[in-house]
Amino acid sequence: MKKDPVCNMDVNEDAAVKVECDGLVYYFCSEGCKKKFLEQRECKLFRTSYDLIIIGGGPAGLTAAVYAATLKMNAFIITKDLGGQAIDSTKIENYMGFDFITGPELTEKFQYQLIHSHYIDHLLSDVEKIEAAETGFNITTSELKTYSAKTLIIATGMTRRKLRVPGEEEFQRKGIFYGNIQDFSFVHAEDVAVIGGGNSALQIVESLHGIAKNINIVSDTELTADPVIIERINMFKNLKKYEDYKVLEFKGEKTLSSIVVRKMAADEIFDIPVKGVFIAIGLQANSFLVFHLVKVNERGEITINPDCSD
Ligand SMILES: Cc1cc2nc3c(=O)[nH]c(=O)nc-3n(C[C@H](O)[C@H](O)[C@H](O)COP(=O)(O)OP(=O)(O)OC[C@H]3O[C@@H](n4cnc5c(N)ncnc54)[C@H](O)[C@@H]3O)c2cc1C
Repeated sequence: MKKDPVCNMDVNEDAAVKVECDGLVYYFCSEGCKKKFLEQRECKLFRTSYDLIIIGGGPAGLTAAVYAATLKMNAFIITKDLGGQAIDSTKIENYMGFDFITGPELTEKFQYQLIHSHYIDHLLSDVEKIEAAETGFNITTSELKTYSAKTLIIATGMTRRKLRVPGEEEFQRKGIFYGNIQDFSFVHAEDVAVIGGGNSALQIVESLHGIAKNINIVSDTELTADPVIIERINMFKNLKKYEDYKVLEFKGEKTLSSIVVRKMAADEIFDIPVKGVFIAIGLQANSFLVFHLVKVNERGEITINPDCSD
């Protein structure tokens, strides 16, 4: 047993939240106590060298962290957030053990497991550079702190792809949003468009149903989402589907007022008046950090061996 230096509680060494400060390890009952401790005390010497550093705290990185903790590895996780893309999922129906769970609920459970059951040191930061070093790798974060590791696990996942058409940058957050958002009230009783035809796009259509007046879904292919979701949205009376249509432009004054679309392989171009647009057209791999160290395929995804090595 160890004593939490903030609340004086006895804490189990294995389950406690830990921090290494000036060469000593301190044990806490919670992240809150750790935060208070770090607010009161300036640690000059944080640990910077590990056997394993995991970059990315989505489901893959957090799972790797739990395994590293179980194996009592000298490991560290650096991530921009805890949860990754799963945070944005409004409805997860394929995670064993849960008939239905939202992304935020599931990621809260991941975080609890990491912090309370399988603790390893973690840092919320953006990794900006990875360099090969004599005994492994040096990692530099956006705060210009450098950490070294003998081994790296790259679990940086994917980020949303953009359309790259005129008006997209101009009306970002002034009518154009990426993926599902928490509050759709600004499009209450308004006409909207969802761009994309996969599961993410159709989840947004489901979220907008009952809020927006008319929902236009625009996809440059047929809808590719799971048939069960397509079946559900086909019941919506206020849904208009534009399959095989391309978005050419976003228009408006101060805020978005319409999108310009064109029927693929045809001369049919027209405006769809909308107050809000939600873009979900797929993802691109966050692999640029290691382009110089590993092999990537034509989509920028890291190609790996069956044992996950490069
Ligand atoms: C709206 C939506 C709904 C979804 N619904 C489902 C579903 O119902 N069922 C399902 O199975 N899947 C679903 N998915 C997909 C699922 O969320 C992903 O497959 C999963 O999150 C991938 O996990 P990952 O850990 O590989 O990557 P990600 O979740 O992409 O995590 C990557 C992590 O790396 C971090 N990172 C990236 N770059 C850096 C950097 N430079 N420095 C530090 N950290 C970095 C990110 O912040 C993030 O924490 C959905 C995805 C979305 C967006």
